[in-house]
Amino acid sequence: MGRHTRARIDLAALRSNYWLAARQAQPARAMAVIKADGYGHGLERVAHALAGETKRFAVATLEEAERLRAAGITQPVVLLEGVHECGDLSRCARAEFEPVIHEHWQLDGLETTGSCRLWVKVNTGMNRLGFRVEEVAGVLERLAAHGSHTVLGLMTHYACADDPADRMTVRQQRALAELLNRGGLWGSAANSAAHFHSDLPPFDWTRPGIMLYGATPMVAGSAADLGLTPVMTLESRLIAVRTLQPGETVGYGGTWTAERPTRMGVVSIGYGDGYPRHAPNGTPAAVNGVRVPTIGRVSMDMMALDLSAVPDAEAGDPVELWGAHVPVDEVADWAGTIGYELLTGVTARVPRYYV
Ligand code: PLP
Repeated sequence: MGRHTRARIDLAALRSNYWLAARQAQPARAMAVIKADGYGHGLERVAHALAGETKRFAVATLEEAERLRAAGITQPVVLLEGVHECGDLSRCARAEFEPVIHEHWQLDGLETTGSCRLWVKVNTGMNRLGFRVEEVAGVLERLAAHGSHTVLGLMTHYACADDPADRMTVRQQRALAELLNRGGLWGSAANSAAHFHSDLPPFDWTRPGIMLYGATPMVAGSAADLGLTPVMTLESRLIAVRTLQPGETVGYGGTWTAERPTRMGVVSIGYGDGYPRHAPNGTPAAVNGVRVPTIGRVSMDMMALDLSAVPDAEAGDPVELWGAHVPVDEVADWAGTIGYELLTGVTARVPRYYV
């Protein structure tokens, strides 16, 4: 079967993470956020695995939404990034996609578009997308004047919910709550991190993403402590094993030097597969289920491990780069990034297989 570098995707774990999100969201409902190719897990497969559970999906782009329709997904699909040109609004209207409207030029485009079901984005502090709070009444009036569009709800996005102590989240939540006081519209604010704030109202629809894939949305603490199960196991095999003598170095730049005779193994995975090149010496991996440290620089197709903790390891033995033994968040921490980036960064060269 050639190279053994693969991403194993556990769809039962995905569903169980979704169920946790759905329970937390009650009485609101959780739309499954599956943008960026289902956070790297495979858009269509993730959508089908959750199609019996969720009543709504959210993606970033029109192209992602169209892939879902082509794959037979019939649920409403929210386009979190909205549309990038007015012509796309007609495509949304025809396919019953729900764009998130956040700019005045999109309102202009909607003047000449057939009836669209849409969300209005409110900027409550993220300062990325959305109308200012004081603009919202005017936006809603303009949409109402058109007559045939349906505004489903007001959406905002929390900037700092990954830190439970940050007061910005409460300010953002209150700003949306005040706008919703007039009634008649759904509200949606919570990302995964907000799911873990027991004091935040969920409004009508939450938008969990990263938690569905079993990685933590929080700045501190582990996904396991939050009751989440990892969905992706990034796996490969040892393709060479050797013993280094004291003073010998490993890999480009010779950034790791053996201090004593050291058995080391070469794994068939590298930054060309999406493993982070910045993972330093010591980043954990697991060989035959035993955690071992990486040594030397990560190359494009290969990297090296210190096999001292698994003296019997030999070429052909399985290696987990992240998964159940090594949480993706831990690798991300070592590499100075977040689990989101690692999961979405696994490249097309790595076949996904589903269990
Ligand atoms: N809602 C919006 C608008 C987003 O951009 C994202 C992700 O970036 C999410 C929800 C899901 O966030 P998370 O993956 O942190 O749950």
